[in-house]
Amino acid sequence: MRRPMVAGNWKMHGTRASVAELSLNLKNLVLPSGIEVAVFPPALFIGQVIDELSETEIIVGAQNSAVQPEQGALTGEVAPSQLAEVGCKLVLIGHSERRQIIGETNEVLIHKFAAAQAGGLKPVLCVGETLAEREAGKTLEVVGRQLGSIIDALGVAVFANAVIAYEPVWAIGTGLTASPQQAQDVHAAIRAQLASLDAEVAANMQLLYGGSVKAANAAELFGMPDIDGGLIGGASLNADEFGAICRAAGN
Ligand code: PEP
Repeated sequence: MRRPMVAGNWKMHGTRASVAELSLNLKNLVLPSGIEVAVFPPALFIGQVIDELSETEIIVGAQNSAVQPEQGALTGEVAPSQLAEVGCKLVLIGHSERRQIIGETNEVLIHKFAAAQAGGLKPVLCVGETLAEREAGKTLEVVGRQLGSIIDALGVAVFANAVIAYEPVWAIGTGLTASPQQAQDVHAAIRAQLASLDAEVAANMQLLYGGSVKAANAAELFGMPDIDGGLIGGASLNADEFGAICRAAGN
């Protein structure tokens, strides 16, 4: 049985002090049992957050990791094995801000995905269409291609140790949310794509929705059959709001 997951992407937000305050507020939350809760702080604060949340069940992940699993000559990057060594468990792969602003391609993401697993991290693969692609009726084609590029290169079995987040680009940080049915349709297509190759991988896959999720809309989204929780950006910077979203996933 797959467990719901709620994950907070803190993006490039925070100072030492504000991160300590957020950690403290998260530590004081009463979180529902039976769900996985994760946070993705900026790389600089990962060690700090791991220490601050050490008495909790909250999992800490990274927002990015290098194209090679082990440490080496790669200026400015952090190796998956280095992240794993300090206690990081997950890594976001292919967030739309990295695809669009940094220019990460499906090709690069194949290497990052493989390196993450080889270095001891579980990838959270982010997929999603732009507004223009949705309006052109290309949502399922685009999302299918983003997922398919990893499957074609690495095989479907790698998804036994991964999470997928559907994040329509037009809904990220915009206040626009996909309707529960719009999100469900894409989630069902993702699960069907996996199921056509491996029924067990598909059935166990935690499929998260991301894009302006907040306490007010979380329960309706998480109530859909193929939505197993959320990847939360802005709302994850407020511990009370994040806690309420976690409770919605626990119900
Ligand atoms: C995100 O960045 O992954 C995200 C979903 O952001 P927001 O919740 O702010 O739309």
